Amino acid sequence: MDCEYRGASASPQTVGRAVVHIVKRTRWWLTAAIAGFLFSSEALALHVQQLEPHDIDTLHAVLQVLEPSIAAQKSDGRANLLAWEQLYTPLNSSQRAFIDAFRALKAEALGATSHYFGEEPVTSEIVPVGTQQTVKDGLVTPLDPQYLPRRVLDAYQRMMDAMQKDLGKQLLVESGYRSPAYQLYLFMFYLPKHGHSIKETNRFVALPGYSEHGNPARQAIDFINEAGINGEDHPEEFEALPEYAWLQQHAKEFGFFLSYPRNNTLNTSFEPWHWHYEEGTGGRRWGVGIP
Ligand SMILES: [Zn+2]
Repeated sequence: MDCEYRGASASPQTVGRAVVHIVKRTRWWLTAAIAGFLFSSEALALHVQQLEPHDIDTLHAVLQVLEPSIAAQKSDGRANLLAWEQLYTPLNSSQRAFIDAFRALKAEALGATSHYFGEEPVTSEIVPVGTQQTVKDGLVTPLDPQYLPRRVLDAYQRMMDAMQKDLGKQLLVESGYRSPAYQLYLFMFYLPKHGHSIKETNRFVALPGYSEHGNPARQAIDFINEAGINGEDHPEEFEALPEYAWLQQHAKEFGFFLSYPRNNTLNTSFEPWHWHYEEGTGGRRWGVGIP
């Protein structure tokens, strides 16, 4: 209170100094604002409809540089747990800025209504699913190591025990938990497949922070059947499986819900293999139809 009172009776000199100070501060603020604008417009310079040629070049350079480290992580069975640091380390500064530009993207700006879950760090709650393999025409194919939060793994196993009893079949975890860094790697990896369109790719792969695969509170599992049918490229193949019919009837009893039904309003393609786990909420914690 004392200070305010003294300020009110300040001498003209003091007032003059204060004005200069304000002008200086305003100038500083303007400079900062312009710099911020330039920086943010640079960070948001990615053309979401179709990457520009120089960004396509950078994308392919980034994927090439990352390939050996991702391959090493895969052979260690830890690609799904990739940390941001591991993603950035092999890259040069402009490639890192490219990654930053992707991380600054908002799904809302891509015409999607995806829910932002945030980026959870990998915790000890995330445990390995164990060895899995598909068998087709006698050909045994091991699946990449997968991880799930402990309680989701328990619920999945209970559900599979019941499916085994009813059908004599089970579904395997083709993709469980994915760290935000690995999610971004996947997004970039699939970009060329979707004509280098961020907007189009986002219909098939979520941006980091928007994926149920990276959100242990609403953990997603992509299923594959024991014969290796996962619906990729042809969702109706998975949709036609008796395992899928069984899920539709029983998954909710175990806390699993289909995230992206046919004709959903989320601008996300139909994914009959993608189910998320949600305890005790009837799959509606984020409202009906919100992933
Ligand atoms: Zn999925």
